[in-house]
Amino acid sequence: MNAASGATLSTAEIIAVGTELLTPFRVDTNSLFLVARLNEQGIVVRRKSVVGDDRCDLGAAVREALTRVDLVVVCGGLGPTEDDLTRETVAEILGRALREDTEIAASLRARFTARGWTMPENNRRQARVPDGAVVLSNSRGTAPGLWLEENDRVILLLPGPPRELEPMFLGLVKTRLRVRATRNRLYSRVLCVGGRGESHVEELAQPVYSRWRNSAPSVETTVLASPGLVELHLSTRTASRAAAESVLEAAATELKEVLGNDVFSTDGQSLPEVVGGLLERKGLYVAIGESCTGGLVAASLIDVPGSSRYVRSGVIAYDNDVKMSVLSVPPELLDSDGAVSESVALAMAEGARRLVSADVGIGVTGVAGPGGGSEMKPVGTVCVGVVGPGDKRQAKTVQLPGDRGTVRRAATRFALDLLRRTLQREGAGHTLPSRS
Ligand code: AMP
Ligand code: MG
Repeated sequence: MNAASGATLSTAEIIAVGTELLTPFRVDTNSLFLVARLNEQGIVVRRKSVVGDDRCDLGAAVREALTRVDLVVVCGGLGPTEDDLTRETVAEILGRALREDTEIAASLRARFTARGWTMPENNRRQARVPDGAVVLSNSRGTAPGLWLEENDRVILLLPGPPRELEPMFLGLVKTRLRVRATRNRLYSRVLCVGGRGESHVEELAQPVYSRWRNSAPSVETTVLASPGLVELHLSTRTASRAAAESVLEAAATELKEVLGNDVFSTDGQSLPEVVGGLLERKGLYVAIGESCTGGLVAASLIDVPGSSRYVRSGVIAYDNDVKMSVLSVPPELLDSDGAVSESVALAMAEGARRLVSADVGIGVTGVAGPGGGSEMKPVGTVCVGVVGPGDKRQAKTVQLPGDRGTVRRAATRFALDLLRRTLQREGAGHTLPSRS
């Protein structure tokens, strides 16, 4: 049966094969690529599993998956060695004989000859094809992929190495799937929320998204939280992009209404990209003075291509001496208010700005832990100050949970978010004399 004439494929499972994927040293990343590509075809992935190089476990996993979904994608275990069992195991459970394909055998041999090598005998295993399988040639390696049909189900065997699997999928599998996929495609939209915890976002957003879940077409929402950031992933299945865009836009607009200015992007833009865009549009240069974040604020802004148009400098003023000598923080302030205080954060911002004649300065100081906390300023206390443009001054203190790394990452987002809010309040059309 050819791909064009088969039944519709609307559900899938992915089975990653490899004993190394059950150790702490390797992780299955192929399934992330595959889920995204299958969703683009409107195919819903119902389950993913990882099994070792074991005939029994793999056989059971494939057999069970075939009872649940239309498409079973097995990746890995197509290599030439003893532990690569996928081809043989799948042929066995489907009751198909394996025959050596002379064309594949010849092309494998040619691959080795071209490098001046003789093909090891065990590579011939890779030329063995189960009856009725369509061979998917591998432009990057020796293991061909296989497309098998069984009672309106498809079993797709793909090589493990991502650099082989990805081009094979895009070059040979995608078009075969397209003619078998449902008319509906999955479209999605990401809303990013800063400065609010997950449960707070959930409380405000839940009444809205639960209504959209029951609408037609339905919009599914997944809430993903990381330090200092909550993402709302909205998705819908429709036959046309225009229909999806209009329903996603309507849902996103309603969510934005309840979450207000906490939403910093509705198109997946990251916080540093949003902040960078605001600085660039307003023609402002920023300078950063940071302590506990140790350069993360500057690094995340500079990660965005084109940031030289608005980032002037970053100073890591970790030691109090450096806060005083480089950022001109008054010693009296450090004595009276302590290094972790809004007044010192503002002084750091002002010092950073003045040092390089920037328009906006941002200062971050906090207790990243695990030591250094006090009753008044426990671990996780972070103060951020933003000065500028002009004589505007904004400072905020937050209490962040988690270990040292988590506090530093969340503090970075908190600082960038305060800068974003300051710039958004600024209003549009603010122009400064151009600098060369
Ligand atoms: P195999 O096709 O089983 O011989 O796999 C060869 C190599 O591909 C493995 O050693 C891994 O480095 C890589 N690999 C296999 N499966 C995966 C997977 N699911 N995700 C990422 N890499 C993989
Ligand atoms: Mg393997």
